[in-house]
Amino acid sequence: RHVAFPQITLVTPDAPMSAEVYGGRAKCLQRLIRLGMPVPQTVALSFETVRGIAQGRMPDLGAIMAPFGFAPLLSVRPSSLDPDWGGPGAILNIGMCRDRYEALMATAGERAATSLYLRFVQSYAVHVAHLDPEPFDLPEEPTRDALKAMLDAYERETDEPFPQDPAIQVGEVLRSMARAWEGTTARLLRQAKGAPAEAGLGLVVQAMALGVGRGESGSGVIQFVNAETGEPCVMGRYLAQSQGREALSGKRETMPLTKQAGSPSLEELAPFALRELLAHGKVGRERLREEMQIEFTLENGRLCILDAVRVPRSARAAVRIAVALAQDGVIPREEAVMRVEPGSLTTLLHRQVDPAAPRDRIVTGIAASPGAASGRIVFSAADAQASAARGEPCILVRRETTPEDIRGMHAASAVLTVRGGMTSHAAVIARGLGLPCVVGASELEIDRRRHVVVAPGGRTFGAGDIVTVDGTTGDLLAGEAPTLDAALDDSFRTLLDWADDFRDLGVRANADTPQDARIARDFAAEGIGLCRTEHMFFEGERIGMMREMIFAESAAERRAVLDRLLPMQRDDFAALFRIMAGKPVCIRLFDPPLHEFLPSDRQGLRDLAEVLAQPLSDVEARVEALREYNPMLGLRGVRVGITVPEIYEMQARAIFEAVVQARGGGEPVVPEVMIPLVSARREVELVKARVDAVAAAVRAETGVDFAYRLGVMVETPRAALRAAEIAQHAAFLSFGTNDLTQMTYGLSRDDAGRFLGTYVAQGVYEEDPFHSLDLDGVGELLHIGAERGRRGRPDVVLSICGEHAGSRRAIEFCRREGFDYVSCSPYRVPVARLSAAQVAL
Ligand code: PEP
Ligand code: MG
Repeated sequence: RHVAFPQITLVTPDAPMSAEVYGGRAKCLQRLIRLGMPVPQTVALSFETVRGIAQGRMPDLGAIMAPFGFAPLLSVRPSSLDPDWGGPGAILNIGMCRDRYEALMATAGERAATSLYLRFVQSYAVHVAHLDPEPFDLPEEPTRDALKAMLDAYERETDEPFPQDPAIQVGEVLRSMARAWEGTTARLLRQAKGAPAEAGLGLVVQAMALGVGRGESGSGVIQFVNAETGEPCVMGRYLAQSQGREALSGKRETMPLTKQAGSPSLEELAPFALRELLAHGKVGRERLREEMQIEFTLENGRLCILDAVRVPRSARAAVRIAVALAQDGVIPREEAVMRVEPGSLTTLLHRQVDPAAPRDRIVTGIAASPGAASGRIVFSAADAQASAARGEPCILVRRETTPEDIRGMHAASAVLTVRGGMTSHAAVIARGLGLPCVVGASELEIDRRRHVVVAPGGRTFGAGDIVTVDGTTGDLLAGEAPTLDAALDDSFRTLLDWADDFRDLGVRANADTPQDARIARDFAAEGIGLCRTEHMFFEGERIGMMREMIFAESAAERRAVLDRLLPMQRDDFAALFRIMAGKPVCIRLFDPPLHEFLPSDRQGLRDLAEVLAQPLSDVEARVEALREYNPMLGLRGVRVGITVPEIYEMQARAIFEAVVQARGGGEPVVPEVMIPLVSARREVELVKARVDAVAAAVRAETGVDFAYRLGVMVETPRAALRAAEIAQHAAFLSFGTNDLTQMTYGLSRDDAGRFLGTYVAQGVYEEDPFHSLDLDGVGELLHIGAERGRRGRPDVVLSICGEHAGSRRAIEFCRREGFDYVSCSPYRVPVARLSAAQVAL
């Protein structure tokens, strides 16, 4: 239905209004009016009107001002489509002039009248006439002399008396605000916040609620949740004899809204106004379906509501608010899931002190940045860096931090300061770094001479003593407290549980170590989608064995070395199976170039010669012979499996023996064995025959029957093109988009960083294809591979497991293409669960 909007409209409950025509603030004010809130008379100017004003077409000012009656005082505020896009600052008290001043002296008193006139001349001079602000600083005392001086200054600077006609004032204010929106800086600023180039500005003209004058007059803001945690509570400030957002400016001392010891409050000063605000807040939350921050003014004891904006909030609060609104029946669960930005969840995932463990509390300060870490106390940034260089976790303890401490903070595992609050240097930097931090631990005393901290009761801790900082509770604990990986609060879990109800794409984790696997399980990954096994061969003594194996003269010798690696590898897998408790675990067989195991320096060569009992020159010659010019396209992945089959046989045996071992512990394990870097069907046939043979042997030796699934990684273009025949031998195809991107572009994963910046800057590529999945090229190969794979085997399971897998873009693509799951790094799992729900809704 087409609704014709007038371009200038009095905001009433049923005036036709839309945010697309008048902006978000105008629309919101109409909603507040509909809810019966005491909003002063308001007129809204459309984007089109304001654009016209900027271009010199001033509308009929009489029509704008008529609804306000005789000699009004007005404010003008910006109203863009999205309040986050900013806009020119509000101008208040428009209409102040000699006559109005005289009249106000009688009603509001001389002091208030002078103060209002001064404020208006100041903002008009600076923001409308664009004069140098210095002569227009507000005086300490609003005297007639100060007013005269300011009016004289105006006349001196402009060669004209201060305009006395309210219509002229309104016209000039509208013009200057309309033009400010068109300025280049304003344009760039809002485009950086996502505004389209053609974004318009609406303006709202509103009758002033004075906030300055007789009776209880002032202004403030109120909200009903804590912006950091999202917990319900009445928060805000009130400032007597003030206007606009002065209560938030921090220049004068404000008072709390509710009763608090040691300070007067709005509750005592104007109990009725507070009760009214609370009632409006409740209605606002339910009907606007959002936590709002309300801007209000008291004019001689009468409450006016000037504006309401969505409470700005932390990621944590966003989750809690969305869940609470859904639990209270204000919004449906689907909407709660849609309201949280998936990427923001990553900031919530921190280690926590185990709540079940005993706590040896030294002191409590302000919990400035969540998470927990233990380490040795250091008292300077330099010591923190030295400690980090030794690989020793440390806790930086300072009276307060300064910018010189930043490198030390980077090096520390956590930070504690004796002074400071939520916005002190230490707190802000630590939150940015994701570092646990406690500030304002004022009961601690740093004794610099003795190099110790002294806690209440005389307990002392010196440099090198181990402590734990709990940035979530604000506690400093003695010793190394047991921690849990990212304990997620109830709202977080609830939101993700709801997300799971709405999504139809599986989410697994890429996990190589027991530590990764535990995080994956705690984040409710549905299994491990990629366990890269190579790091297992680079550790400790294993790399030596790998070298021995590579240089062995015969298959029998190779087997002898691999027999020593077998039990280690079996333990690796058994640990993963235990942690994943019956959930699928997909193990990728050996993938890296053999080249990477060659010794790279003389010492390495000498060690190898010693182990092999061969002359150094022979070893050197063999290493030289094995070196590759292009190892990433050389002897790696399944090619190693084909040419040195004993490695895959050992890994298969380790997997199956671990399955037998884990069998007693609950859910049966059905492992998935994945072959990397395949480009031809025959590779799969050969490896499958050997893995099947190993499975048969282990079954025969142990007398235990078990199942397993064999699958293929599609990460060469040829594998995608030949997916139909490859899938005939593969229960699943997992697309490795890292290698697939590398090979589709012919772009080295390891080297492209050097020039990709230039490529993106010149618009050759829109984005780095290793970060953002290339839907056009790599996407087409994924599409072809999926379609042909299904043609070869209708029930083939499809997934992607490259670094792209956790991104919204890849998730959207995979769902559209009918993939079964994505597999991403453990910390991305919650993000992927939420994204998968959002793309399904
Ligand atoms: C890939 O290539 O996308 C992949 C998952 O394997 P890797 O990153 O280990 O090469
Ligand atoms: Mg790969």
